[in-house]
Amino acid sequence: MLKPLALFVSFLLLGQAADNVQQRLTGRAFGDTPILNDLHELCDGIGGRPTGSPACERAIEWAVAKFKAAGADTVETEAFTVPQQWTPRIADAECVAPERFNLRLAAAPYSLSTTGSIEAPILDAGEGTPEAFEQLGARGRGAIALVASKEMKTLDDLFAEYMRSPAMLAAARKAGVAALLLQSTRPHGLLYRHPLAMANEPMALPAAVVSREQAGRLLRLAARGPVRVRLNLQNRSGGSYESRNVVAEIRGRERPAEVVLLGAHLDSWELGTGAEDNGANSAMVIEAARAIHLLGQRPRRSIRFVLFTGEEQGMFGSAGYVQRHKMEMERHNAVVIFDMGSGRTTGFFLNGREDLRRPLNRALAGIAGLEAADNPIDALDGTDNFDFLLSGVPNLVANQEAAPYLPQYHAESDTVDRVNTRELRANSAIANSLVWWLAEDPERFGRRLNRDEVDKLITDTKLDAQMKAFGQWDDYHAGKRGVR
Ligand SMILES: [Zn+2]
Repeated sequence: MLKPLALFVSFLLLGQAADNVQQRLTGRAFGDTPILNDLHELCDGIGGRPTGSPACERAIEWAVAKFKAAGADTVETEAFTVPQQWTPRIADAECVAPERFNLRLAAAPYSLSTTGSIEAPILDAGEGTPEAFEQLGARGRGAIALVASKEMKTLDDLFAEYMRSPAMLAAARKAGVAALLLQSTRPHGLLYRHPLAMANEPMALPAAVVSREQAGRLLRLAARGPVRVRLNLQNRSGGSYESRNVVAEIRGRERPAEVVLLGAHLDSWELGTGAEDNGANSAMVIEAARAIHLLGQRPRRSIRFVLFTGEEQGMFGSAGYVQRHKMEMERHNAVVIFDMGSGRTTGFFLNGREDLRRPLNRALAGIAGLEAADNPIDALDGTDNFDFLLSGVPNLVANQEAAPYLPQYHAESDTVDRVNTRELRANSAIANSLVWWLAEDPERFGRRLNRDEVDKLITDTKLDAQMKAFGQWDDYHAGKRGVR
């Protein structure tokens, strides 16, 4: 072990003080910081905060005050438009034959309402494939289709759940069913908001997730005889509305026009309190501003700390940010997004950019002890890096272990007590050290890709299939999104 004096001399010899700063930031993250108190204020105090809700507005004002108190040079809110309003009101159902029992269910975001309370036969629609709906034939018209689900255990399972939606919705509409019920992918009666569509693609039928065990019972009953269900789904829907991102900045000392961005989304679904998705990382972004301000030295470039809203509706906040700042995209040297709760960070998704591997390894070398340098090449669609990716901006998403985020995903159980506080502190150390390095390094992290290069990246990483499933392909293809 080095003596303090030897340690001091070795830092002097390094000349480049970035490693020293990374160590100070790491020490702070594991010490006495208000990150857990902030998380408690946001999630227990304000709670679930869907974009456009009064709770989301309170969260935005809370974040503005937090960034100001953290010592950011500027704190702004920046408005953007979400194309469709949707608020759940009533989700009430009961099996009425062959036996009466209540059903627990949660409307899928953008679900239509039923026309009052409807009563209809339940039909087994298999796993929701187009073939299964075709087999319903004339019986499908006016019935309630019940789709079985596998239990969700991995991120791949979750993606499969999303990827089946477009074909399933189209088949359900074609079959003329009155409503679509999906078996919950989580056991023990757990309910969650499962977006079958995003705010820019109206859904055109009532749909809800039903308790896994109750759905299983309905399916077994339906295999032996007629089953009837009364269903009342009432949701408030409306036209477009505005929400706001919160953008705080610590100005760079030498190249203030160049930007390194650390981001997470502040909004959440409301069955739980959005602790893992994504309160933990919202608190982490606020703590990053605080920790870097407290260093008492400015980074070479500016660092922006951004809390997006509109993420759960289809990433409208980050898309709005990219649109608003499009003239500045060339000067966004790096964008780093966290959106997997408090799972251990094992590295960063390179989002199809092999050219970022070497500079990222350099950036993470000073915190090798935190073992966050296993960096997959995969490209992600589904969080706030996406419009930066389309714009050719170097972008990273933290690759985090799936637990505890995944079992609580969008669910009633996404509460503060699920958060792994030790890993949250480690992630905070990693995030702060990484963005400091990226802002301080004399070399630029990566260059901006042109349109042809982004096209090739999308093809090489097979992002096009996801973009089509999430309703993003047409806008990109038409040049309304992404680098020109
Ligand atoms: Zn999220």
